[in-house]
Amino acid sequence: MIINQAAAAVVPRLPRRIVGLVARRYISGETLESALDVTRQLSERRISTTLDVLGEHVADLGGAQAIVELYRRVLDELSAASLDSNISVKPTHLGLALDPEACFRNIRALVQHAAERDIFVRIDMEDSSTTTATLDIYRRLRETHDNVGVVLQSYMRRSEADARALSEIGARVRVCKGIYREPAEIAYQDGAEINRNFLRVVEHLLGRGCHVAIATHDAALVQGSYRILEKLGSGSYEFQMLLGVTEKLRDSIVAAGHPMRIYVPFGEEWYDYSVRRLRENPKIAGHVLKALLRFP
Ligand SMILES: Cc1cc2nc3c(=O)[nH]c(=O)nc-3n(C[C@H](O)[C@H](O)[C@H](O)COP(=O)(O)OP(=O)(O)OC[C@H]3O[C@@H](n4cnc5c(N)ncnc54)[C@H](O)[C@@H]3O)c2cc1C
Repeated sequence: MIINQAAAAVVPRLPRRIVGLVARRYISGETLESALDVTRQLSERRISTTLDVLGEHVADLGGAQAIVELYRRVLDELSAASLDSNISVKPTHLGLALDPEACFRNIRALVQHAAERDIFVRIDMEDSSTTTATLDIYRRLRETHDNVGVVLQSYMRRSEADARALSEIGARVRVCKGIYREPAEIAYQDGAEINRNFLRVVEHLLGRGCHVAIATHDAALVQGSYRILEKLGSGSYEFQMLLGVTEKLRDSIVAAGHPMRIYVPFGEEWYDYSVRRLRENPKIAGHVLKALLRFP
């Protein structure tokens, strides 16, 4: 345990090459082709995917435009290959911090491009400075498009109220715990409280007929969601997990007959994402450290 925690702290200082070796587990690769390959492999196991171009916070709007073009290519390729896959986009990757209106136009262009190919677009949720702007963009897009969804984080105190408002417009919502560090005034810090809120939000949305993506690797939340689904008797939902994480639990959910979608990140900006994955999973970081000590 101690070695694992120490390893997690050391991860950001590991050479890029070493992080790259372990990163293979969490990202499909640098290219779109690698993400399509993983999608094909997972589809053989009856698992669908959502493709994510790695990165966030572009330096200028030209950078955001380049990301739009890359996602257009992703949509074209998914459509040409008839794969059961969609895309996830991050607002700051598409210019939110620079110009919210330009970000709206960028996401709308992608949602429109996707609609023409019958593909769904999920808008990821980033840190709390972006929550209101992201939900505003989502509401505006919903006025014209059905093929778009958003994310609520159960650590956010506001999420229950946001779920109520979103259920009024028949939103498609991914529910996750939330990955950023947020202050106690706006976010629950206690794991049990975050889990209770997760299940409250899931139950509210399912009960109002919304499509819910239950995004977790936490076995207790999977069991809690099973209980909600059983109680409600019906519901539009899928489970979601990140590539390379808790594959046994993933397979057990699929074996029980539930729809499963895997988040498949790819792209050149793999380093920061991989370091985050390793820091969140001290056990794997521990394996890396032990391997390094054995093979100096
Ligand atoms: C499909 C998907 C989309 C997501 N989208 C967003 C988003 O838009 N915004 C956002 O803020 N967060 C997002 N997240 C991240 C999420 O908020 C959590 O930070 C993350 O899923 C960990 O929470 P958990 O529910 O899996 O429970 P935890 O209790 O954190 O995890 C349960 C177990 O799973 C394993 N595990 C969990 N996460 C990882 C990991 N990353 N690497 C290695 N092992 C891990 C660990 O063994 C852990 O013990 C997403 C997660 C998923 C699965």
